[in-house]
Amino acid sequence: MCACILGYKVRKLPDTISYYADEVYVIDDVLLSEFHADLSASALEGLCRELGPRTVLMGHNYENREVAPKLACKMKNDLITDCVKIERDSETGCLLCTKPIYGGNAYAIFQLDTEPQIVTLRPKSTESLEKGVSAGQIIPFWHKVSETDALSKSLEIVPEGHVVSLTQADAIVAGGRGVKTAEGIGELQKLVEVLKKYFSKVELGASRALVDEGLVSHSHQVGQTGEIVNPQLYIAVAISGAAQHMAGIAGAKKILAINKDPDASIFGASDYGVVGRYEDIIPALIKQLMELQ
Ligand SMILES: Cc1cc2nc3c(=O)[nH]c(=O)nc-3n(C[C@H](O)[C@H](O)[C@H](O)COP(=O)(O)OP(=O)(O)OC[C@H]3O[C@@H](n4cnc5c(N)ncnc54)[C@H](O)[C@@H]3O)c2cc1C
Repeated sequence: MCACILGYKVRKLPDTISYYADEVYVIDDVLLSEFHADLSASALEGLCRELGPRTVLMGHNYENREVAPKLACKMKNDLITDCVKIERDSETGCLLCTKPIYGGNAYAIFQLDTEPQIVTLRPKSTESLEKGVSAGQIIPFWHKVSETDALSKSLEIVPEGHVVSLTQADAIVAGGRGVKTAEGIGELQKLVEVLKKYFSKVELGASRALVDEGLVSHSHQVGQTGEIVNPQLYIAVAISGAAQHMAGIAGAKKILAINKDPDASIFGASDYGVVGRYEDIIPALIKQLMELQ
């Protein structure tokens, strides 16, 4: 099993990952210092043509959602995205890729029979690998990345401080249409801060309704057309539980729903439910958590 690291001045990074792979290929190029899907796909194409891998696995994150189709196109092969399970058919050698369909209401198994089999895998959908006893080989790979490979250009770089990382969060407090106001968002943000005492990474999430209202940016959106998340705890505040939202939280270990409507469908998919106005429940929850500290 080989791993690949792309970027600029990333020669130190492979030290950790080398304990999880037989070989680590490092593509270090100044043109890869900022993310660019066309340039990353071009570099990966160079590596694929050199190594001829049977399967290329990529994390299903924002960047790879853009890179993987470009790579598949360059390699003139199929791509299956957002898989939650992969296995090899022992008889045919084909790769069987399981992914949620119809907004997470069903699973389909796709078969990839031509190589390289390119797949994006949902973060945290498999158990972590055990650290190996010895480090794999680190191999610099030289591929000429050219600016002419870039078919698009970035018009604006969002500063690091504003980047939301929902897929890495251990706990998410997500607001829905019922939150309504900036003051409401402020209350949820207070809960986020309090939960940071208990979880290492806590983020503010949102349903599409709240994003459409313009109260938070799209980077907070959870669901079919937002992020697919896998936190230990997902607190859904004033979210009804539409299929497109639920498609994003099937991987959450525990779901706590707060909704004033006892018939809200989200209660059917939650581990814990509180019926009431979030304006009353959230301050009470914050108070209880503060008293525990
Ligand atoms: C192609 C497509 C893709 C989509 N992708 C996504 C997606 O990625 N993510 C997503 O979220 N949606 C997505 N949607 C939209 C989705 O269908 C729903 O419209 C949306 O999820 C509803 O958001 P909501 O639950 O916040 O709002 P609503 O359905 O309006 O629910 C609001 C809830 O708040 C409760 N409430 C109101 N006031 C309070 C209060 N004071 N205290 C407590 N509870 C209160 C209400 O009882 C209600 O249950 C998509 C739709 C389509 C067609």
